[in-house]
Amino acid sequence: MTARILDGKAVAQTVTQEVAARVAARVAEGHAPPGLAVVLVGENAASQVYVRNKRRTTEHVGMRSFAYDYQATLSEDALLAAIDRLNANPDVHGILVQLPLPKHIDPEKVVERIDPGKDVDGFHPYNVGRLVLKSPTLRPCTPFGCMRLLQETGESLVGKHAVVIGQSNIVGRPMALELLMARCTVTICHSATRDLPGIVRQGDVVVAGVGRPRFVQGDWIRDGAIVVDVGINRGEDGKLVGDVDFEAAKARASWITPVPGGVGPMTIAMLLANTLRAAELRDG
Ligand code: NAP
Repeated sequence: MTARILDGKAVAQTVTQEVAARVAARVAEGHAPPGLAVVLVGENAASQVYVRNKRRTTEHVGMRSFAYDYQATLSEDALLAAIDRLNANPDVHGILVQLPLPKHIDPEKVVERIDPGKDVDGFHPYNVGRLVLKSPTLRPCTPFGCMRLLQETGESLVGKHAVVIGQSNIVGRPMALELLMARCTVTICHSATRDLPGIVRQGDVVVAGVGRPRFVQGDWIRDGAIVVDVGINRGEDGKLVGDVDFEAAKARASWITPVPGGVGPMTIAMLLANTLRAAELRDG
């Protein structure tokens, strides 16, 4: 079997166009455009690229982009005070603080300071809790984007065995909760998991969020499985590679996401979808 490609770039474009149309409709009805504040602390090169893309796409869909760039020396108290101001600003519907933060700032404290109604990353304990309770409001963007990609296959997820590799708060855990909510039987693997290849071979759906280039081998993939590769790793040649050995896995899977052009573009698209939802939720 040769897998069909789950084209994240194309699906992200569709989502973005849908968001832009709804933003335009809201504005035509007399509402203010949704506003997204993206906060960057320090000069991490990768973060600067992500933030630039987020701000550009925000404006592209007709939303207001509020940019806050701070020096790496910004104190934790000053960042928390900046978040308080954004929480109180009615023009701001979504707040995103780009991670990682400099070592002297506690990311948990920062995430918890964001008004849950403006937490468009979906990382606040309130929003994670809503997902746990099968009643999500603002959903973590990357897993939300993976679910939108899985929808593109046209296959029902009900009863499928989904194997998630990785249990981080931003990828693996919320991904497992999303799949559970979609009525999959879910196995979560991590660095202490025994016989990882044997477990992955049971997966009708395999989601890899490990952070190791080409870690998941082709012969771990069951014939006909759907493979979602969340990993973004920089190879020795400087090119981006995923957590899955793409060519080998493609020979066995029914669907597979490429890297780049798979999950990555979906994350930004779902961030915009969340910002629109935050604005709609505030309207009641
Ligand atoms: P992370 O916080 O480092 O988590 C990695 C997870 O992989 C951990 O749960 C870890 O297990 C597990 N793991 C590590 N080695 C393993 C092994 N040998 N066997 C089984 N599991 C193992 O990373 P993350 O933030 O979740 O990110 C994961 C990847 O996704 C990275 O490549 C990142 O760049 C990418 N990412 C992409 C997007 C996107 O938009 N596409 C968004 C976010 C992240 P333990 O918990 O036991 O340590």
